[in-house]
Amino acid sequence: MNLTVYNTLTRRKQKLKTVHPGEVRMYSCGPTVYSRAHMGNMRAYLFMDTLRRVVTFDGYKLIGVMNITDVGHLTSDADDGEDKMQKAAEKTGKSPWEIAEHFTSLFLADIDKLNIGRPEIIAKATDHIEDMLEFVEALVEKGYGYETSDGIYFDISKFPSYGKLSGNARLNDNIAGARVDVNEEKRNPADFALWKKAPKEHIMQWDSPWGRSYPGWHIECSAMSRKYLGDTFDIHTGGVDHIPIHHENEIAQSEALLGHPAVSYWMHVEFMQVDGRKMSKSLGNTYTLDELAQRGYSPMDFRYFCLNTHYRKKLNFTFEGMDSAKIAYSRLLSLLCACKNSSEKGDPEIIGEFKKKFTEAVNDDLNIPLGMGALWTLLKNPPSRGIYDAAIWADAVLGLSLDKCEVAEDIPDDIKSLAEERWAARLAKDWAKSDALRNQLASLGWAVKDGKEGYELKKL
Ligand code: AMP
Ligand code: ZN
Repeated sequence: MNLTVYNTLTRRKQKLKTVHPGEVRMYSCGPTVYSRAHMGNMRAYLFMDTLRRVVTFDGYKLIGVMNITDVGHLTSDADDGEDKMQKAAEKTGKSPWEIAEHFTSLFLADIDKLNIGRPEIIAKATDHIEDMLEFVEALVEKGYGYETSDGIYFDISKFPSYGKLSGNARLNDNIAGARVDVNEEKRNPADFALWKKAPKEHIMQWDSPWGRSYPGWHIECSAMSRKYLGDTFDIHTGGVDHIPIHHENEIAQSEALLGHPAVSYWMHVEFMQVDGRKMSKSLGNTYTLDELAQRGYSPMDFRYFCLNTHYRKKLNFTFEGMDSAKIAYSRLLSLLCACKNSSEKGDPEIIGEFKKKFTEAVNDDLNIPLGMGALWTLLKNPPSRGIYDAAIWADAVLGLSLDKCEVAEDIPDDIKSLAEERWAARLAKDWAKSDALRNQLASLGWAVKDGKEGYELKKL
C-alpha cells in the first residue's frame, strides 16, 4: 500500500519512502514525567499509536522510540525558568527520581488502558547522560556551541536554515521581543541551551567538562533518536506546540552534527482544546483518565472520541462530545455483536468494497474518520459474520477492542426506547409490531425476555 503522510517540513502530503526498505524507524517525543498526563497529551499518543498501527497494517517492520523526559525540561520551552522535575521535587519533598518513577508508571498504565501500543524502545533521559554529553562536546568542537556563565549554548547564526520547520524567518526578533529577560551572554536571542550548569541546590547533576551540570531538554531527543535509529530515520512525531522551538532545536543540533538532515518526515498532531484554548496543565483545564472514569466514560469511549477527528484538526473536548462518542461506541459494539452471532456469511462484494475503502482512507494521511465512516456504512447491511470479521480486521488500525461484545454495562438509550415501544405494542396486543421490534433489537445485539410485569434486556 502507498502510505502518504503530511510532512510539516515540506508543508504537503508525501508518499512514504523509508530509508530501509520494508522498515519504518520512528521517534516520538514522550512525556515529561513531573505530573499525571492529561487527555490532551493522550491525544498526541493516540496519534502516535494510529501511525504505528497503520504502518504495521501496511506490512512494515516498525522500530519506534519514545523518550521519557525525567530531567532538563524547563518550565518554559525556551530555557527560561526552573527544571520541571526539580520544581516538582521541591513542592512534594520527594526526590526527582521518585517523582519520575511514579508518573512514568502511571503514564504506561494509562496508555495501556487506551490500547496505545508501547514503542519498541522507551528511553529515559537520565539513562543517556553520556550520549547527550558526547553529542554536545562534538557540537562545541565543531564550533556550534559556546560557553556562558550558566551553560553551553547553540549558536544559531552558524546554522543558516534555523527556523525551516516553522518557516519562522523572524524567529530571533520574535523571541527577543517576547521575553523580558534576554540573556545578555547569548550571541543571538534564539540561541538555546545544550547543557546547563547546575546551581548547588539543583538535585539532578552530573560531572562534565564544564563542572557539575545537567542536560538541556532538546539534546535528549537528538541524542537518543540517533543512538537507536541511526543518522537518518523516517518519521519524527510530536504535538504542534513542539514545531517552533523544540523541533527547530532538534533539527539544528542533529543537522549541525551530521552535516545532513536526520529525519525524512515530521508529523505533528493538533491540539485538544477546551473552550477554544489548548488543554494544558498551566491553564488548569485538564482531565485525566481517572476523572473521565469517575464521570462514567471508559478509555475506549475517549479513544472513539479522538478517532472521530483527523489528527491535523483541532479537537474540542466537551462532555456532549464524549456522550455521543460513548453512545456511538456502545452501538458499534451492539451491532457487531449481532454480526458475531449471525450464521450469515455476508456479501463478499460489499465486504471487499469496505476493505478497499478503509485501506485507502487510512493510508491517506491517516484518515481514520473516513475509515470509520466506511465501517458504519458497512453496518447498514444485514448482520453477518463476514461483517464482524471485516470489522476485526479494521480494528488492527482502530484499536477499539471491537471483539468485546459484552462491554456495554449500561443499556444505551436507543435500545431502551425500542424495548419500551415493543412493550407498549405487546400490551396493545399488536403482535406483528412487537415481533418486528424484537427482531430489530436482536439485530442490534439485544434479546428481550418477557415477564409478567415487564421485560428484561440481555446482551446477545
Ligand atoms: P509534555 O509532557 O508537555 O512534553 O507533552 C507531551 C506530548 O503531549 C507532546 O507531544 C505535546 O505536544 C502533547 N500535548 C500537550 N498538550 C496537548 C494538547 N492539548 N493536545 C494535543 N497534544 C498535546
Ligand atoms: Zn523531543
